Order: sequence, then structure tokens, then C-alpha cells
Amino acid sequence: MKLVFATNNKNKIKEVQALMPEGVQLLSLEEIGCNEDIPETSPTIEGNAIQKAEYVKEKYGYDCFADDTGLEVEALDGAPGVYSARYAGEEKSSEANIEKLLKELQEKEDRSARFKTVIALYLNDELHTFTGICSGKIIFERKGLQGFGYDPVFQPEGKSATFAEMSLQEKSQISHRARATCKLIDFLATFEG
Ligand code: IMP
Repeated sequence: MKLVFATNNKNKIKEVQALMPEGVQLLSLEEIGCNEDIPETSPTIEGNAIQKAEYVKEKYGYDCFADDTGLEVEALDGAPGVYSARYAGEEKSSEANIEKLLKELQEKEDRSARFKTVIALYLNDELHTFTGICSGKIIFERKGLQGFGYDPVFQPEGKSATFAEMSLQEKSQISHRARATCKLIDFLATFEG
């Protein structure tokens, strides 16, 4: 089965390909000749994942899955959520995003937050979605140098380290993205269509 992963991030493809059941071959957007920016205009994380998978399915005719992730902070009514990448502006700076987040939380007592990843899969004209959540809290200042995005200020529940203080393997055992990906893989492994 050939399945497009709607990303051009070669590392993401490599990682997920290694976990796929035998017989599933992943193709990147580049490999199907898609060099355009796929629209992501939905007001929800789930909507964006579906929009990307649907776009590839309709325009290129391939079965496809796409992911979208956001950080939802309780005291900010779920912000930055779907706008996580450009929370502090269109330049999508992680530094500036963290700065803004810490400022917004200065006066708040509740610092609980969660990462949410939604994967939308179009397979044989049917849509399936898989959600992965990682709950935790936003700490007061940056800790750690690994990872990316909000990792230096996100401490997962039950851990004393931030994501940025963990190795990729440690993060991958509990992360939102890994949890959603596991659900997708389990589904594909049992799929008999
Ligand atoms: P994307 O949908 O995977 O591109 O994620 C959107 C934005 O959410 C990124 O630009 C990051 O700011 C943030 N983000 C997503 N996943 C993570 C993560 O695992 N750690 C920290 N930040 C993340």
C-alpha cells in the first residue's frame, strides 16, 4: 500500500516509515510532485489535519495522512492552540512564542497545558482521525536545550524534566505526536481493506 505523509520533513518520514507495518510504503509530498504550500486555514487543529489530507487526496489522488499539533493552555482558554507556530507573529519564532507565553501566564495561577496532535487519514475514500495528548504544565523559565518549539517550558505530568531536557527516545515514549502515530500504526496494522 502506498500512502502519502503530507510533509516534506524527511526526518519525520524516516521516523514514521520505520514504525509502519510491512507493506506500507510512505511517500513524501515531493515524491508525488507536490511542491506547493498546502492550505492550513481551519480554526481547529483537527480541521487543519483534515484539510491537508483532503487536499492531497483530491488534487493528487493518493491515499494520504497529515498531522497538525498545538499547545493548549488552560488559563488562556486553549490558546495558542491552532496558532501555536505563529503565536508571536508570522516569523514563527520559538523564542518569541515562549516569551509571549510566559508573559501571558505571569499573573495566572493555573499553568496546566497540553500538547495535542491530530492525524487525519484518508484511506479508500474514508476519513479516520487519531488524536494524541500529552498533559503537563508550563514552567516559569526555560530548561533544557533539546527538542524544538515550546519544549523548554513544557514539563509533562509525572516528570521533573521538560521535553527539552529529554532525549528524543524519552520524549517519544510519552509525546502527543508519538501517541497519535501509534494509533495510526495500530489501525493500519489491523486494516483489512
Ligand atoms: P506542527 O503542526 O507539527 O507544525 O506544530 C505547530 C507548532 O506547535 C510548532 O511550530 C511548535 O511551535 C509547536 N509544537 C508542535 N509539536 C511540538 C513539540 O513536540 N514540542 C514543542 N512544540 C511543539
